[in-house]
Amino acid sequence: AGEIEFDNVSFSYDKRTTAISGVSFKVPKGSSVALVGESGAGKSTILRLLYRFYDLPEGGGRILIDGQDIRNVTQKSLRAAIGVVPQDSVLFNSSIAYNIGYGKFGSSPEEIEEAAKSAQMHDRIVAFPDGYNTKVGERGVRLSGGEKQRVAIARTLLKNPPILLLDEATSALDTSTEKDIQKALQNLVRGRSSLSIAHRLSTIASADVILVLKDGQIAEQGTHTELLALD
Ligand code: ADP
Ligand code: ADP
Repeated sequence: AGEIEFDNVSFSYDKRTTAISGVSFKVPKGSSVALVGESGAGKSTILRLLYRFYDLPEGGGRILIDGQDIRNVTQKSLRAAIGVVPQDSVLFNSSIAYNIGYGKFGSSPEEIEEAAKSAQMHDRIVAFPDGYNTKVGERGVRLSGGEKQRVAIARTLLKNPPILLLDEATSALDTSTEKDIQKALQNLVRGRSSLSIAHRLSTIASADVILVLKDGQIAEQGTHTELLALD
């Protein structure tokens, strides 16, 4: 599973404004597509519609996963197939292991450790060997924004969905944190179909296709090299 297709998709939140209009593109199975564009261009709307956070009305085009209209897929199976890494991850007031394990109920400690490793969060778990009962904050397990994002990445690795929606943080992070996140993201994206609201240059440069959105429409699309040649 994993091919995504937007077929002439238009959506409005209210009668006066159009959030996106006539948007068509494909994310072939296992490939990565980066959405770029100014604030308000329609990037989040595309992710929300794919996750059926909002439903596409009749006449608004079609969104297909593996050729099937998502209107005919249950919310439950849709959400099982899609992993979301949001811009700001809200974590439970519990151990890091618990927060990662939430990605898949019944995970063994070994599976959780493996996911933590792939997300470069291994050190934090090892640093708190009794951390399975440690409350975040209570005993100094305070995580930076970058670490929180890596917990969300580890959780999604454990869930192991074929499709990923990523909303990269805009906030500047220090270089070492940035490198760890890049590595974690690479491990997560590998082998999956992904649609990212991309802010990192590394994500944009490594995407198979970049869609440039402007006023709710695709203004340009191509690889990083192709788009640079347009300037
Ligand atoms: P981006 O993610 O690129 O910043 P959005 O998809 O959030 O853009 O927004 C596209 C358009 O839809 C904008 O004009 C925005 O103001 C509007 N919009 C976004 N979310 C809502 C909402 N919940 N209600 C009404 N309008 C919205
Ligand atoms: P914004 O930051 O543009 O105002 P929101 O706060 O509504 O947008 O959402 C932030 C991100 O999280 C968006 O990309 C949105 O698609 C996603 N999101 C918000 N709520 C949900 C949800 N219930 N399920 C899945 N994704 C969500």
